Amino acid sequence: MASGHRSILIAGAGATGLTVALELARRGHLPRIVDSDTGPVSLTESRALGINARTLTLLSPSRVSDAILQECQQIARFRITAKGRQLVDLDTTKLPGPYGAIYALAQGHTERLLLGKLSDYEIVPEWQTAVETVSGDLSRPTVVLRKPDGSVETADFDIVIGADGSRSAVRKAVGIEFPGQSLESSFHLADFRYALPIDPGFAEISLVDPGIIGRIPVTRDVLRYISTLADFEGRIQHPAPVAERVWASDFRIHFRHVDTMAKGNVFLAGDAAHIHSPAGARGMNLGIEDACWLAWLISEGRQKEYAELRMPAVKRVMKQTYRLTSLITMRNPVAITIRDLAAPLILRIPAFSQKLLRSVSGYDTQSPPWIDGAL
Ligand SMILES: Cc1cc2nc3c(=O)[nH]c(=O)nc-3n(C[C@H](O)[C@H](O)[C@H](O)COP(=O)(O)OP(=O)(O)OC[C@H]3O[C@@H](n4cnc5c(N)ncnc54)[C@H](O)[C@@H]3O)c2cc1C
Repeated sequence: MASGHRSILIAGAGATGLTVALELARRGHLPRIVDSDTGPVSLTESRALGINARTLTLLSPSRVSDAILQECQQIARFRITAKGRQLVDLDTTKLPGPYGAIYALAQGHTERLLLGKLSDYEIVPEWQTAVETVSGDLSRPTVVLRKPDGSVETADFDIVIGADGSRSAVRKAVGIEFPGQSLESSFHLADFRYALPIDPGFAEISLVDPGIIGRIPVTRDVLRYISTLADFEGRIQHPAPVAERVWASDFRIHFRHVDTMAKGNVFLAGDAAHIHSPAGARGMNLGIEDACWLAWLISEGRQKEYAELRMPAVKRVMKQTYRLTSLITMRNPVAITIRDLAAPLILRIPAFSQKLLRSVSGYDTQSPPWIDGAL
């Protein structure tokens, strides 16, 4: 194993940056991690919820998976209904290996579990510290950091990792393009806490054509509704009296990815390298996967292989989420009728439902060779 003396800077302490830091730390490295924000994302305003089996496998050596499993909610069934008729009812627990396909835990909780584990290695993110530029010879990049008191620090690093989200300053500074497209329509979400017990064990997409209303568990007593319809809140059939509307937000969907995830010794991971629709709950999971591969390759002294190894997984997930998003947001009445007739028939074929399950679980990308028995 390579020694841990190399100077490594991680820009961004979201799920991706924290995972790279942790995976490096447990292999004896001491990376520095900075974030322009004041702390991890709020516990109630969570974008990512879905944690798949691949992520649990990847986070098992650090034991973060055990902590996630203690706090999360298993999504045991995935249902699709159209005009009140059930098209699909997938049992997500029927997978080989120790995990079900997918679980729900608010992003803020996941980030706090990663932060807690990282503190065991005495690594704490430097909050309110932003990467302003990365320049010079990218085999040993020079980074300008803006500190909380407004002062500037300039330092050289052996390796710089841009895990600084979709607007990545690192990506822009090294001149890597972020081509792709943005969907015109907005999506809407609202999280509700219920006053009486609800069934949090399943996720459901209701096709209300044209448009969808998705229902995803957040915790035992909170459900998220996500929709293409601005007036969706009035259409929700709440399973119990609402105690509180916890959070609501609108967002646009973008499909973009870089052509290369590395330039010299500058590496991009997570949303800094790829963004897509939340359909399939792959975004944060894919970022965590990037992070684990990058940390392993750095420790093996094989970081030059990172971009080539990761791009196929990125392209595959982009393609899948694009197809899934097109299927659930289609507007043409003929296409909608065909989809609603075909979906239940196709998913009755075991090979198709297994393929869907592999994708939901994240097992459709390359298996991590450093974890014994990983699927
Ligand atoms: C509605 C919605 C639902 C979603 N649901 C899911 C889901 O169920 N499952 C899933 O896997 N994914 C989901 N996603 C996607 C997921 O939220 C993202 O993919 C994930 O947050 C990416 O993590 P990241 O760490 O790469 O980037 P971010 O979470 O964006 O973190 C980047 C960090 O970098 C910091 N930063 C920014 N600029 C700088 C700078 N110049 N210097 C230093 N620090 C900087 C930021 O403060 C931030 O902390 C969803 C997204 C949306 C919009």
